[in-house]
Amino acid sequence: MDLAEAHQLHAFFFPFMAQGHLIPFVDMARLFSSHGVKVTIITTPLNARLISNTIDRGKQLGLDISILLIPFPSEEAGLPQGYENAGSFPNFPAVASKFFDALSLFQQPFEDLLKEYCPDCIVADMFFPWVTDVSAKLGIPSFIFRGTSFFSLCVSDSFRRYTPHENIKSETDTFVVSGLPDQIELTRSQHSESLKKPTHFSKMMERIRESEGRSFGILVNSFYELEPTYADHYRKVVARKAWHIGPVSLNNMDIADKAERGNKASIDEHVCLSWLDSKKPNSVLYVSFGSMARFTDTQLLEIAMGIEASRQPFIWVLRLNDEEAEQRRIIEEFEKKMEGRGLIIRDWAPRILFLDHPAVGGFVTDCGWNSTLESIGAGVPMITWPLFAEQFHNEKLVTQVLKVGLSVGAMEFQRVRGEKEVVKRDNIKKTMEQLMGSGEEAELMRSRVRELKKMAERALEEGGSSFADVTALIEELRQLPRPAI
Ligand code: UDP
Repeated sequence: MDLAEAHQLHAFFFPFMAQGHLIPFVDMARLFSSHGVKVTIITTPLNARLISNTIDRGKQLGLDISILLIPFPSEEAGLPQGYENAGSFPNFPAVASKFFDALSLFQQPFEDLLKEYCPDCIVADMFFPWVTDVSAKLGIPSFIFRGTSFFSLCVSDSFRRYTPHENIKSETDTFVVSGLPDQIELTRSQHSESLKKPTHFSKMMERIRESEGRSFGILVNSFYELEPTYADHYRKVVARKAWHIGPVSLNNMDIADKAERGNKASIDEHVCLSWLDSKKPNSVLYVSFGSMARFTDTQLLEIAMGIEASRQPFIWVLRLNDEEAEQRRIIEEFEKKMEGRGLIIRDWAPRILFLDHPAVGGFVTDCGWNSTLESIGAGVPMITWPLFAEQFHNEKLVTQVLKVGLSVGAMEFQRVRGEKEVVKRDNIKKTMEQLMGSGEEAELMRSRVRELKKMAERALEEGGSSFADVTALIEELRQLPRPAI
């Protein structure tokens, strides 16, 4: 055995403080440590609480994962104490720029930890672009985790390269996203202000893009067979070095890991599982938006009425906004009316545990990338209802390229759902009936997504495409000279 083989690689993982980032980082940590890498996750005390049980269970299984704490600079950032995660704010859009600005305050403590622990590599969230500079200074290879699809990365590249969204008459006129393998049409209304004029966020995205070019490469939570033409396009045309390593959610095999992923569930999962056991296969609709979504009262009511009119058994996971009293009234009334037909879960549910249940036959999602990939990994077709970020891009991948979902017809980028555009109960009901029905299109979607689920599982097995990329990446790291800090 030579020296390079004897040394156990040590990776620092640095996730952005939001569930949609923290969760895949923990899954990635389990994946890398199952390949023999020692992983240290750097996060703040309140975020550590969300993941510590999962990490402890991993350790009991022999995985070499630990957490190092770094304080959240609430006072310096002008943010209230006790809020360290983007999803914990009842109205995140109102504090978003302060929260993103706070991220640069982690630079010095992070650099101090690097000097103290001398890891062999860093995997940093895209929202810490300064990590690329710090790592270059210290001679440590760093990777950026983008947390989205190859498809969406290719769409963003097309916008920058060809500006297909310019010279369009109105916000609702469609334009073709130039240079992609498929004919994809979007509207400006499905994008933030940043597409039209420089904003705080667009400047940050530009910095992220620029730092990617100087990093060692990009880690993508996807698998090759899901989006082969876009994986190729990204590597050849966008010309970034990338490794596909997903779906990382499938590394949670144990019921306890599925039940507590990302947070403690706000219900007893056994009660829900036995309720699901009592339902026919593919009969239950699972309605759950991402960790950040909030609704106006009007939109909340339309969803409730749409679900009621669809006559489907359902699980609806929801979080109330800061005008809680009225929202609570709407939901309590609805809950009484729906007793026996559906379950309402407030706050946090064990998503992948429920999606995996054979009774669940459809998933209403905002197309956050984790949610989308989790649905595919569970073989469940989707109703797509994008809200913000790159969710409208992921919707096109699901409905048009993969053909495993139906769109509810949302057209407006909005941080709080229902603030600009209200999706009406009739649309909601119609789409739910179509997806859960026995029509030919619905049957085809079900069989396509089941096929993708099998491919996803194979990708992670020895000899599979994601397994091969993780192994190749680790091998490449082993060949590098060890950082000399
Ligand atoms: N999630 C969960 N339970 C919930 C709500 C969300 O486990 O009740 C998880 C979900 O499985 C996913 C993540 O939270 O892994 C949300 O990430 P995504 O990228 O889908 O959306 P975002 O929250 O970033 O909008």
